[in-house]
Amino acid sequence: MDVKAEGFAVGVVGAGAMGQGIAQVALEGGCKVVLHDAKPGGAEAGRDLIFGRLDRLVEKGRLEADAVAGMKASLSIAPALADLGNCPVVVEAVFEDLDLKRSIFAELEKHVAEDAILASNTSSLPIAAIARNCAKPQRVAGMHFFNPVPLMKLVEIIKGPETADDVAVALAELGKRMGRTPVTVQDAPGFLVNMGGRAYTTEGMRLIHEGVATPAQIDAVMKDCCGFRMGPCELMDLTGIDVNYPVSMIVYEGYLHDPRLKTVPLHKALYEAGRLGRKTKAGHYRYDDKGNVLDAPSPDHVTDAAPAATVSLAEPDAALEKFLGGLGVKITASDDGSSPILCAPVGEDATSVAVRTGADHRRLVAIDLSADISKRITIMTAPGADAAARDSVAALLAKDGCKVTAIKDSPGFIAQRLRAMIGNLSCEMAQVGLASPEEIDLAMTLGLNYPQGPLAMVDAMGTRATLRVLEQLQALTGEDRYRPSLWLRRRALLGLSAKTAG
Ligand code: NAD
Repeated sequence: MDVKAEGFAVGVVGAGAMGQGIAQVALEGGCKVVLHDAKPGGAEAGRDLIFGRLDRLVEKGRLEADAVAGMKASLSIAPALADLGNCPVVVEAVFEDLDLKRSIFAELEKHVAEDAILASNTSSLPIAAIARNCAKPQRVAGMHFFNPVPLMKLVEIIKGPETADDVAVALAELGKRMGRTPVTVQDAPGFLVNMGGRAYTTEGMRLIHEGVATPAQIDAVMKDCCGFRMGPCELMDLTGIDVNYPVSMIVYEGYLHDPRLKTVPLHKALYEAGRLGRKTKAGHYRYDDKGNVLDAPSPDHVTDAAPAATVSLAEPDAALEKFLGGLGVKITASDDGSSPILCAPVGEDATSVAVRTGADHRRLVAIDLSADISKRITIMTAPGADAAARDSVAALLAKDGCKVTAIKDSPGFIAQRLRAMIGNLSCEMAQVGLASPEEIDLAMTLGLNYPQGPLAMVDAMGTRATLRVLEQLQALTGEDRYRPSLWLRRRALLGLSAKTAG
């Protein structure tokens, strides 16, 4: 199939939010579009919205008026599914209902050409299940666009178990013609992005659940120290808990209750309480009518304590010593019995460090040196910690204007833990062959706006350090949620990049 042919016609079934976006990018890619919606007047309403958006792109100078006139002339409306018979590719974007999609695919098969391709934009239904009743399941695939389609460059091309290779290749080419970046993914729950995205949100909420940190602290650390555009709690409030809770459950159930994908009761409680995020003015945060956050406690630990003048280390640590050297604090060779004792653990919590090294847990302050600490630095203490010791360390760290976030004891603080979980899930995706390492990083960066691909994130933290964080989490919590992927374990033990294939 030559998807690059002039006047190549794409049928779009469903003229809702996604169908409109798919039709728009197909028109922008020079395709003809035949649009169908079952609701009377639905296709016409969708067309008008598409035309309005194209007109605005002309006003903004992004498209030429002549080109848009041509695009408008290339869109026609199909009163019935039978009118899509001449389209070599049909993309379905109707309600997320398996029986409905199956009936549409069965009907389409009666009308399209022998070699036509039928694609679904489903975000959660298995392609295999949609194709099940089709006479030719090999022509059925997923073409999963992201919302809003014109702005989101990624399209996942999903290969069902029966999907022919050339069908996936043709859809990837068509995706490129539509100005998207295609990534080919196996037919698994949540496909790639919706599965990979679970770690950030569920582990973020896990930290709240354990009482380690507040939403504002978690969000601030992930933005300031790890370069994320949004923290997990802000992100959930933006996408809507009515979207991310059901998606989390679909993926969790799809993977047969793998604890790595488990969410926490708080997620369900927010969903059931109708605290859906920005759209209901309450979620993890509360919002005013203008969308400003109300009453969130500051993530910054502000203290008027005097900066610690003398500290000791719980154990030899060259990186910590170097860092403290830059702050001009005196480091004594042994504990003087009154000054703070510092450590910079990877994966361990402060309690474990105190027990292992024999340091006085009351004066032990753990510092996370694993991420960018130019703007914000995270400290944590064990239960029963002396607030004066913690505050004198916070004052020392804040001396040059750096913000300090003080959290409760946590294996891997916030930043190590969240990045390790994101990386581990992506390593598992690579292990089971959901997509290639390069495609995993590409899809997660484009689909979720992550600052870097999750496998690159593992490399940046270090495969060994990432493995250690997970091993500690698994050992200390006793939970299989944190069991390291074999992909990660092997690459860490061999000293290889997380992107190493094979
Ligand atoms: P929507 O409710 O905005 O639009 C669905 C459209 O399908 C409506 O216009 C409806 O009239 C039409 N429709 C229903 N039954 C039909 C039928 N039998 N024949 C023709 N048209 C019919 O929904 P949406 O948000 O555009 O989602 C559509 C699909 O895209 C779903 O499968 C959804 O899971 C998937 N998806 C949605 C998003 C998102 O963020 N909204 C993102 C990715 C994928």
